[in-house]
Amino acid sequence: MIGIGTKTGKKSTIARYPFLLEAFEMIKDESMEEILYSEAFRGSRALAVARVQSALKNDEKQIFIDERNCFEAVLSFYLAKAIVTHIKDNFLLKRHSIFEAKNAYYYLEKESEEVVDQVAKSLGIEREGDKIRFVTFLKYAPNSYGSWKLVNTRLSGGMVEIDRHIFLRIMQEAMRERIERIRFSVSDIDKAIDLSSIYAELSSRKIAQRKEYRIEFDSFPPCMKNIIAQIENNINVSHLGRFSLVAFLNGIGMKEEEIMKILMPTPDFDDRVARYQVEHITGKEYSAPSCDSMRTYSLCFEPDNLCAKIKHPMQYYEYKINHKDHGRVPSKEV
Ligand code: SF4
Repeated sequence: MIGIGTKTGKKSTIARYPFLLEAFEMIKDESMEEILYSEAFRGSRALAVARVQSALKNDEKQIFIDERNCFEAVLSFYLAKAIVTHIKDNFLLKRHSIFEAKNAYYYLEKESEEVVDQVAKSLGIEREGDKIRFVTFLKYAPNSYGSWKLVNTRLSGGMVEIDRHIFLRIMQEAMRERIERIRFSVSDIDKAIDLSSIYAELSSRKIAQRKEYRIEFDSFPPCMKNIIAQIENNINVSHLGRFSLVAFLNGIGMKEEEIMKILMPTPDFDDRVARYQVEHITGKEYSAPSCDSMRTYSLCFEPDNLCAKIKHPMQYYEYKINHKDHGRVPSKEV
């Protein structure tokens, strides 16, 4: 068993591999009410959202694990899993497990052979010197090219010779599979944790992946149509209104030059200032505010039937362009 840390923050390696049973043991008896709402777990909740966002952004950077707070790190993994389970999106489920497995792989690369073998054993993989069982190799080989091609392997007595790199890649695949299989549900997680930035990012990705990509203005949500109408009518739009519009337009894949053209009729339009603001918002990839925030800023405008089923303007647009021919409003939340 890998050395387990404590809530008080003993340095430990378990935080790097939270999908192992030993890690789950640490959090399983904690009160869910406390986890979701208490100030003490705010860090875990924020880290959980960061984990899912990084997965969606295909972030190659490792998640920073503060080993002084092993409990927080492990809990954030399970909360992230609960978020992914709640959203029920296959693309997100796969992206998340790949991201977490890669993250663990980066840590494994720096571990001693003893720790590598301990993690492998917890995954059900045994290494004998520089060999593993042929069936294990076949099960977890990520592809069948190059070093993974059977003719390029040294096989004898049901065992395959492998180097450290190949072994770690096999472990990465086993970790991905383990992570994908974990189901961790937390009811009302969407009430306790603001998931709107994740919904926005997910919609943005799906919109960008459409084969015939084009901007469809008539599918914009009423709030964004209203901000554009105000700009076109030479009405001064608040800073928050402009921010929301630019972040939304960037989210659906509009180019900076096109965004600039939309902003141009603004009464106090200054090309240099506007360009700086647009570049800042698009460069940082800010998400447009959620519907809740838009309501708070008084930017939600004449919500329609579809608005009642979504939480973010990006979801509205994504739904509209995907169901354009049918004009249907979903019977439940999307
Ligand atoms: S409910 Fe959301 S999408 Fe609809 S108008 Fe309001 S802010 Fe926009």
